[in-house]
Amino acid sequence: MPEGHTIHRLAARHRTLFAGQPVRVASPQGRFAAGAALLDGRTLIDTEAYGKHLLHHFADESTLHIHLGLYGKFADGDLPAPPPVGEVRLQLAGERHWLELRGPTACEVLDPVLVAVLRARLGQDPLRDDAQPGLAYARVAASGKPVFALLLDQTVVAGCGLIYANEVLFRAGLAPTTPGRAIGTQCWDELWEDLRALMKEGVVRGRIDTVHSAHTPEAMQRAPRVDRHGGEVYVYRRTGQACLVCGTAVSRGAMAGRNLYWCPSCQP
Ligand SMILES: [Zn+2]
Repeated sequence: MPEGHTIHRLAARHRTLFAGQPVRVASPQGRFAAGAALLDGRTLIDTEAYGKHLLHHFADESTLHIHLGLYGKFADGDLPAPPPVGEVRLQLAGERHWLELRGPTACEVLDPVLVAVLRARLGQDPLRDDAQPGLAYARVAASGKPVFALLLDQTVVAGCGLIYANEVLFRAGLAPTTPGRAIGTQCWDELWEDLRALMKEGVVRGRIDTVHSAHTPEAMQRAPRVDRHGGEVYVYRRTGQACLVCGTAVSRGAMAGRNLYWCPSCQP
């Protein structure tokens, strides 16, 4: 599933392509036909991301809410738009560009009240300037759940996914099983700041890199990582390989149905 940095990149891209323009909206597949009819011809005012949720705000206070889930995918390009092929849930066209969405978990029109409801159930997003990490910490400090599960809980931290959760815990030297209530204020502040910095870098680069400069392929004179997600990481999907810091084999386990990766030496 795309992590928050991908959704923030999409929000920025869609703002560049369409903000301030009246747009044509259609649902070639038909599953979003009623919503598309509501939005068709309106001006797209602005876009924003909140965790893994993408919002397109339209004139007249309607908001298009999209959650990509596991299979959702956007495509865009210069007009004219290609004829829709297959299951295109949403097709949008502005003055010069088109946008296409397939396979999302959510694609719906929300009014301001429902947007507020959505935001209220989401936690703090490290990529947003209005984030309040103290609110997330209050939830963490009151919980006996493992910090790994809390980082992935979208009602605590919005936008953090599997790769960032595994990697930020490695970088902090924290065992993923550490209960939330054992995380002190300073430890949380450092975790949050590191997560924020890593995710901001992800927005710029369009991929997740989490290794310090001393552990890049160039610095270590090793071959770059080969993995479909791309970036250079310490533990994510590196089961059995040598830890880049201490050489211990990276471990894998499952927690709350998610894959957990850690170095038994660096994260005792
Ligand atoms: Zn290690």
